[in-house]
Amino acid sequence: MKPRIAITSWVEKTAQDPSLTLTLAYVDSIVRAGGLPSVVPPLQSQDDLNQVLSGADGLLLTGGSDLWPLNYGEDPLPAVQFCDPERDRWELGLAKEARRRGLPILGICRGHQLLNVALGGTLWQDLPTQRPGSVGHNPADLLMDRLWHSITLAPENSRLRRIFGRDEVAVNSFHHQAVKELAPGLIVTARAADGVIEAFEAPGEAFLVGVQFHPETLLRHSGFLELFEAFLASVSSSDPSGL
Ligand code: MN
Repeated sequence: MKPRIAITSWVEKTAQDPSLTLTLAYVDSIVRAGGLPSVVPPLQSQDDLNQVLSGADGLLLTGGSDLWPLNYGEDPLPAVQFCDPERDRWELGLAKEARRRGLPILGICRGHQLLNVALGGTLWQDLPTQRPGSVGHNPADLLMDRLWHSITLAPENSRLRRIFGRDEVAVNSFHHQAVKELAPGLIVTARAADGVIEAFEAPGEAFLVGVQFHPETLLRHSGFLELFEAFLASVSSSDPSGL
């Protein structure tokens, strides 16, 4: 059996008929790494979300708009423009329950930030105004499959450092927010040159990795498919049936 990976979708509200959306690159990455993707729609019932997780071997939290700052106890700054509190609510519920169950979790971009908030951390609401002098984390018109800024991977024994096999990696970057205070139980595993947190993980337990970049569009570059393969390998290795 292939590992079943639940992937969160979102609603495109600008369409005439609000539509469920999931960028294909997430689905393709799971397929290429040997998994079976299943799309999670917005579900406001925690019981329904729990049932979704009962049928999943791992959870992929996807990218998207800013988290609503009230989720981590702050009022929004003027630079925060597009939030979807409904999406926040069901994805936060899903992330907390997945962690409680010890399911392998990979959070990407917004998913990385959401995972940190779900576990008790906070965010920088807007890097350009709150951390002037930051490197360019949100360049205009950058193509999704292009590398942009460097990150340094440490410590050496982290999952991420072992997956990439080197200290310095170039990544893409599509964010103006970032992890500020890390949630309890997590460690930083990558930083940009300006010190901004670009990845974290939970050491010594089930695979729980957040990355601020978008690995799903960088599969042609070394190390990024390996991240998805490591995610799926962790699912297989935690299968009590040993199959
Ligand atoms: Mn960045």
